[in-house]
Amino acid sequence: MLTLSEQDQQNLIAFLRDLVTIPSLSGDEKGVAERLKQEMERLGFDEVWIDRVGNVVGRIGPGQGPKLLFDGHMDTVGIGDPQTWFHDPFGAEIKNGVLYGRGACDMKGALASMVYGAALLKRSKLPLAGALYVVGVVQEEPCEGHAVRLLIEEEGIRPDWVVLGEPSNLQISRGHRGRMELYVTVKGRAAHASMPQRGENAVYNAARLVFALDLLAASLPEDPFLGKGTLAVTQIYNTGGSRNAIPDSCTLIIDRRLTLGETESKVLAEVQGAVIREGIRAEMGVTEYHFTSYTGFESKVPQRYPAWVLPEEHLLVQAAAWAVRRVTGERPAIGRYNFSTDGAYTMGIAGIPTVGFGPGQESQAHAADEHIRLADCITAAHVYAQLAADLLQEA
Ligand SMILES: [Zn+2]
Repeated sequence: MLTLSEQDQQNLIAFLRDLVTIPSLSGDEKGVAERLKQEMERLGFDEVWIDRVGNVVGRIGPGQGPKLLFDGHMDTVGIGDPQTWFHDPFGAEIKNGVLYGRGACDMKGALASMVYGAALLKRSKLPLAGALYVVGVVQEEPCEGHAVRLLIEEEGIRPDWVVLGEPSNLQISRGHRGRMELYVTVKGRAAHASMPQRGENAVYNAARLVFALDLLAASLPEDPFLGKGTLAVTQIYNTGGSRNAIPDSCTLIIDRRLTLGETESKVLAEVQGAVIREGIRAEMGVTEYHFTSYTGFESKVPQRYPAWVLPEEHLLVQAAAWAVRRVTGERPAIGRYNFSTDGAYTMGIAGIPTVGFGPGQESQAHAADEHIRLADCITAAHVYAQLAADLLQEA
């Protein structure tokens, strides 16, 4: 088994503390990106660069042959109400072997583990038949999959396997539900509010549609592994002229979680069906996220992220499970994530075999007093090194 020296374990922890003390809200990852690049260079990665989107890419092993990509995101969500934190969100305090701070678990802990796992592989001097890429992507939180898509499609790195470091509590995740965000703009007809009978009130039409959608939500399909699709109206607003006019339009935002087999056209057709049954007029579509990276790269991203599952018997799932067993002596559970990840693109769209394995608990992601056990980060680094060695070692 490949094992980090005592010194390297201390260095991993010091590096993780640095990452946590540098705030990195989505779109503002420059500081963390530079720190990540510096550590990869210090550890002797064969090649390190920042692409034009702002992703950090480090390579170990030859440029040709099979490619394994370790994927982590550099951005974090905000801290929310600071009063709800007992520990300083950017203090990276350590207490009883646990490190506290925003991003500790989601997912700077995994990033540090991946970097040190890769460095361990490099130092082992095992002959490699292919390359390991460790990637820190930008803006995963608002639009998972987009930055890694740009990396794969624009930098021409087409991996054979992807490992997501999102927190899985050192177990294996082989899929998750997808999601879509829709807008529905319900139409009406304006009139003076003193004579409502002369108009058609778009807010009232929208209210009927909300109840129809609630009924639709109850009948959504269920997948035995991924669970049920869900639908929730999360915003409602109108931008009508004044408070003494009958509104002629009202917009709903819908958060839709997709189970296996649910496509964009199916989702839109269901909402359209509800609109027709209510006898109202509406325009609808998928919302767009305006992506501007810290390097100034801009693009528009439709908010559509497919569900995906990799079969349990797939080589990558089995290799990951074997690596965990080799390091911990225990057989990991093989399950799924509750949240959505970069896998929505890598497996859901590009069809690249993808699994999730990371230190930290899913419940810590985005929570106040977010934390991670340092021992789990060391274990994860060992598993990452073992898995990369198993997949890339020369036969
Ligand atoms: Zn995450």
